[in-house]
Amino acid sequence: MADILNGREVSLKIKETLKKQIKTFQTPPKLAVILVGENPSSLIYIKSKEKTCLDLGIDFELIKFAENVDSETIEHKIRELNNDKRVHSILVQCPLPNHLDSQKIIDIIDPLKDVDGLTSSNISNLVNNYGVNVPCTPAGIIKLLDFYNVELEGKHIVIVGRSNLVGKPLFHLLLNRNATVTMCHSKTKDFKKFTKEADILIVAVGKKDLINKEMIKENAILIDVGINRKDGSKKIYGDINFDDVFEKCSLITPVPGGIGPMTVMMMMNNVVKSYLTQNDDVN
Ligand code: NAP
Repeated sequence: MADILNGREVSLKIKETLKKQIKTFQTPPKLAVILVGENPSSLIYIKSKEKTCLDLGIDFELIKFAENVDSETIEHKIRELNNDKRVHSILVQCPLPNHLDSQKIIDIIDPLKDVDGLTSSNISNLVNNYGVNVPCTPAGIIKLLDFYNVELEGKHIVIVGRSNLVGKPLFHLLLNRNATVTMCHSKTKDFKKFTKEADILIVAVGKKDLINKEMIKENAILIDVGINRKDGSKKIYGDINFDDVFEKCSLITPVPGGIGPMTVMMMMNNVVKSYLTQNDDVN
């Protein structure tokens, strides 16, 4: 029977530490978020970030653009935010509408203010193992594993899903921790043969019940990043069939209460890091 990797509990501990640290600052850190259109999932994520910012004493500003906004207008706004000394962190909420080139827009963000760690220069820093702002979900996964003293060095870690947001940065972070990393994706032939070999299996696909007990090794450690909704209901599910694998794995993240809260808290951690790198007049 498995033990739970409790992301909610760990994120609350990090929150308390950040709250105390922010109280010592002479001025509040500030996060500016750019939202294009009305994507319902994006609106939910932004609400949750806003609430956490307010709880922590971080100023929050939401800048909204219509769905059909042109790239130049967003780029102009980002340059303004880059030059605004009161703004320490900038987030462009993705996905953006198809007519916009996400990476081109993200690359306008000053890397020091890039809270998601997704500018090309921050990604290159991450690959070279001197990242400042590390993408929040991968950072949250590593932080959670470290909290529970899960050894990464020498482990065979299989990641399913190769997005720029999760899988790809995670691959490099784990490699930098001396794990042996295998990356699977939709074109991987028979990915079960890889998942069955994993000491640690991390799944970030977005397909409910993609992974069951036939696809994992005895006593594997399972990290479920997926967020899936059934029939438009509010309840969320991961990519791993939790009840099916529970007796066979050794540690597992629940959904909800696993990687989701860790992701939000790593974003807050990045806001504080950015504030500190841009501010000399702090204690
Ligand atoms: P994404 O951009 O949606 O890409 C999904 C990835 O899964 C792609 O690499 C795709 O392969 C791969 N894939 C699709 N079907 C597959 C299959 N049948 N077998 C193996 N691989 C398959 O990914 P994402 O943005 O990382 O999101 C993934 C999930 O994580 C979503 O449910 C999202 O909501 C969730 N998420 C959660 C958090 C959190 O805080 N908990 C944060 C971010 C994302 P190809 O590259 O070949 O297309």
